[in-house]
Amino acid sequence: METTLTVESTEQLAPEALLHAVLRAKAGARPCMTCSFQAEDMIVLHLLRRRIPRVAVLFLETGYHFKETYEFRDRITQEWSLNLVNVFPQKTVAQQESECGTLFRTDPTKCCQLRKVGPLLTALEPYEIWFTGLRREQSPTRQNLKKIEQHRLPSGKTLLKVNPLADWTWTQIWEYCAGNQLSHLPQYDQGYLSIGCQPCTAIPDDVSNPRSGRWGGKKLECGIHTFSERV
Ligand code: SF4
Repeated sequence: METTLTVESTEQLAPEALLHAVLRAKAGARPCMTCSFQAEDMIVLHLLRRRIPRVAVLFLETGYHFKETYEFRDRITQEWSLNLVNVFPQKTVAQQESECGTLFRTDPTKCCQLRKVGPLLTALEPYEIWFTGLRREQSPTRQNLKKIEQHRLPSGKTLLKVNPLADWTWTQIWEYCAGNQLSHLPQYDQGYLSIGCQPCTAIPDDVSNPRSGRWGGKKLECGIHTFSERV
C-alpha cells in the first residue's frame, strides 16, 4: 500500500484515483474545499462528497457576489446537504464602503485582501488538506500548477493543496458536467467563463484566457491562490 504522495506519482492520476490516493495516504487529516460554485468546483464537490459527505465547503462570502450565485449556492447546499462554511470578512460591505469607498474600483488588491485573502487564511487553519477546482488552462498564472502542492500559511502551518482537475481542459469540464447532469451557474449561459464577485467579473473578450474578464483585465488573481508559500 502506497502511503507516500509525491508530485511525480500523483501527476498522472485521474481525479478519482488522486482523491483515493490522497485520502488513503492522509487518513485522519482534516479536509476542506474552497468553492465558488463554478463548474470546476461542482465537479470536485461531486467526487469528494461521495467519499466525505460532510467535507467543509468554504465559500468566501465577500458580499459582492451575483444574486444568481447566492441562489445557486443555497440551492446546491440544500440539494446536496453540504457542510457549507460561509467565510466572512471582518467588515460588512456597508462598513467597508463607508470607510474606504468602493475599493474594488480604486484598490482591488486591498479589497481582495480584506474580503478574501485575510478571511481565508484564518478559515484554513483548522485543516490539513485543501481541495480546489484550479486548472492550468484557466490562466497564464496557473500554468505551473501541480496536482498536489505543499503550502505554508503565514502562521507556519503547512497543508496539502490538492488540485484534481489541474490538467483538465474546458471541454472535459463540460463533458463531465453533462455526463453527470450537474447543474451550473446561470451566468455561464450568458457568456461568462470565470465567475467571481459581480463588480469584478465581465464576459471576456479573449475566450482563450477566461480570467481576462476578471478585474477589467488589470489582474488575474485575487490572491487566495498566491498568498501561501509553496514548499
Ligand atoms: S473580487 Fe472585487 S469585489 Fe471581490 S473582493 Fe476582490 S476586489 Fe473586492
